[in-house]
Amino acid sequence: MGKLILIKYGELTTKKGNRRTFIKLLKNNISKILKDFDFNIRDMYDRMYIESKNIDEIANKLTNVFGIHSIVICYKVNTNIEDINNLVIEVVGKEKFTTFKVETKRSYKEFPIQSMEFSRKLGALILKKFDCKVDVHNPDLLIHIEIHKDYTYIYTNEIKGLGGYPVGIQGKGLLMLSGGIDSPVAGYLALKRGVDLECLYFESPPHTSIEAKNKVLELANIINKYSGNIKVHIVPFTHLQEEIYKNVDPTYNITIMRRMMYRIAHKVALKRNCKIIINGESIGQVASQTLTSMIAINSVTNYPIIRPVACLDKLEIIDISKKIGTYETSILPYEDCCTIFLPDHPVINPNVNKCIDMEKTFDYESLIDECVNNIETITNIDKKTFKELL
Ligand code: ATP
Ligand code: MG
Repeated sequence: MGKLILIKYGELTTKKGNRRTFIKLLKNNISKILKDFDFNIRDMYDRMYIESKNIDEIANKLTNVFGIHSIVICYKVNTNIEDINNLVIEVVGKEKFTTFKVETKRSYKEFPIQSMEFSRKLGALILKKFDCKVDVHNPDLLIHIEIHKDYTYIYTNEIKGLGGYPVGIQGKGLLMLSGGIDSPVAGYLALKRGVDLECLYFESPPHTSIEAKNKVLELANIINKYSGNIKVHIVPFTHLQEEIYKNVDPTYNITIMRRMMYRIAHKVALKRNCKIIINGESIGQVASQTLTSMIAINSVTNYPIIRPVACLDKLEIIDISKKIGTYETSILPYEDCCTIFLPDHPVINPNVNKCIDMEKTFDYESLIDECVNNIETITNIDKKTFKELL
């Protein structure tokens, strides 16, 4: 009796025209996530099959892949009635249940017994062997039989997949990734909708530490398990930030700093072919995220900015961060560049014209170019374990 994995697609089944692209990309993404295993993958119109010696480990990895509706470990047998009967008894014998239902799908129409009748016959067989009852509405155990020409597949439980779209189907976005709780969650939600990520991190050494940077790299590493392609661009922000601090009214520090971040993100996104900028801003969370602040900050760019957690409560964001595995790293106590120059009373209703006037007092354009030209990019992020450095 052979075991294999059957993958059912998620939302892509509704996108008829793009189905081939979706399936091809999903297959690619799966292959990338499984690069350390020996396996054989076959795609079909409405499902994929994976055969390997490492079925259980692979099923576990697949729970991180967007675009998968469900993952099923199934048993494969030759399409002949006696072999099917024997395998059903063997598979059902491993389960604990009191009520059950058999559901047969007959793709191979030459199979001599019709689906409903075959389900009934198998049901009778199970009733004879085990102490149990049939319940067609709410069974403890649902036994699926799929009859194809050469092989028949038998399975019971489905493992729920992540859903969403295959990562990359929408191209790339540039995630402003800080060491906080919000931005990794924002990145995860963008990945879920099929947007692959490059990350942008602003660091200000020596005001921010090497640990703060490693923390961000570790967060990138964690969300990379949902992508496999993530890169991190590290912007040397010290010089620009110090000039802001020197030249700008302290209450406007953060507003101006964030305007600079957006200007830099805009340039990097263009350069890296990222179609959108993504960040972890959430309405009203801090002074720089009141709607008035957001307007003042956003007005430096016409680049599309997506804020996946804009309308979530902090507790909702925390729930997601725990679920995706970033929370424990996010709460490590290293300073971010946003916190080091934080004034006592940051403005909550900044005025755009005032921002423009303050920015006239120093040559920020050349400082921005300096930032962009000296970016350090980290690829193959999953090769390193930044956790050990924290
Ligand atoms: P927290 O979870 O503590 O709120 P945060 O990362 O959301 O942390 P904020 O000060 O709320 O921090 O910043 C809002 C957003 O701006 C972040 O979610 C992130 O997208 C972006 N951002 C802030 N600081 C940086 C940074 N140093 N590098 C890159 N992006 C940053
Ligand atoms: Mg935040």
